[in-house]
Order: sequence, then C-alpha cells, then structure tokens
Amino acid sequence: MTHTTKQSQMILVVEDEPAIADSIIYALKTEGFETRWVTTGNDALKCVATDYPTLIILDVGLPDVSGFDVCRELRRQYNTPIIFLTARKDDIDQVLGLELGADDYIVKPFSPRVLTARIRARLRNAENALPKQETSGDTDPIFSVNKEAQSITLSGTRLDLSRYEYRILQLLISHPGRIYSRSQLMDLVWEEPDRSYDRTVDTHIKTIRQKITAIDENCDPIKTHRGMGYSLSLIH
Ligand code: CA
Repeated sequence: MTHTTKQSQMILVVEDEPAIADSIIYALKTEGFETRWVTTGNDALKCVATDYPTLIILDVGLPDVSGFDVCRELRRQYNTPIIFLTARKDDIDQVLGLELGADDYIVKPFSPRVLTARIRARLRNAENALPKQETSGDTDPIFSVNKEAQSITLSGTRLDLSRYEYRILQLLISHPGRIYSRSQLMDLVWEEPDRSYDRTVDTHIKTIRQKITAIDENCDPIKTHRGMGYSLSLIH
C-alpha cells in the first residue's frame, strides 16, 4: 500500500525502536497516511528540510540527540505540529513546558489508535487555524490575560473566575488549539491533583463556559474532544 487520498499528508516518524516504529507506521498507513521513518535526531532534521512533513512524531529518547533538542531546533524554522513519544513520566513536565513548542505528547506504551486520533485532531486544528485571516477579526473571541492580577477579560469585560477557573482558561488561551486531557489539566492546574475526580475539571470547564457566554452568548471557544480533553479554538 502506498498512497491514496492522503498523499499530501506525510507523517515523519522519529523513533529508534523498530518494533514501536513498525506499529506506528502500520497504523498510519491503515489510515491512509504516507510516512517516513528515521531513527536519529539528525536524520529527522534533514528529512524535515527536504520532505516537509505534515506532522512529526518525535521520540524523546533518541540515540544521538534528545527529542527535546530536535524540537527546539525545528521550532527555529518550522511550525510543523509535533507529537512527542516518551517512556518517562518525568519528561512530561518538559513536554508541557511553555518554551518547547510541542503540540502534544503520548506516553509509551500507547495504542496506535490513540495516536492516530491525536494526529487527526492536530491536523484538524492546523486546518482550522488557516482560515483565520479570512474571517473578520471581530468574530474572534478576544481574551486579555493579566497574570499579575490573575484576571482575564473577554472583549474588555472582566470574567469573574475562581482561582482554578482562571488557571484553566489561562492555560488554554496560552496554547490555542492544543488539546489538554482532564488529567493534564488536573496536574497543571491543581496544587494537589486528585485523578479520581475527573469530573472536577468538567465542572470547572462548564462554569467557565457559562461565564464566557454571560458576556457574549455566541462565544464558545472551548472545544470538547471526545475521549481526549479540551482545547481553545482559534475561531468559533
Ligand atoms: Ca527511544
């Protein structure tokens, strides 16, 4: 099987473990994606420069340089969406670090189906971001974050947010399009995350939405991604 309708959507897989790479490539081909596979960071940089992948799946633990270094290097020139693969939970904090410029991450072991769902979501977001210039500016929700006052205004009106509501919305605004799972939000926002209460996140999202629509009833920028989490949409 080579390519069909997704001919232009090429996914670069950067992974030094052949068994993992094989399962990823198989899943991607089944979904109709074209793929390239490299096993080192340096080959990844070369491949991006010549083949312009649509999206990059990037292992953190590579034999030559770390996936983080590859990501930093790529971000100097490219906006290509990057999904990190990591076997270490310690890496997640770095992946989620604001400066790195990764779009998402998956912890090994993972199901290929989860990975392809994440890829589709990333590509959809990338496409959604494109027509932004064509829509008139005043249809976009305009948020303004004041970190010192821990306050957020929407089109000039201050949102009356609780501490955790503020933190969730601030995080989503700072990474438009990026999907945060409930447990990621819990880890990043709460001082003492309690994974047994996933609904806590949902409840907070619900009240944030209500507070946003109280200011602008047509404004619903927080998107729910079934089985994955929440993101802030660039357009609505
Ligand atoms: Ca590895």
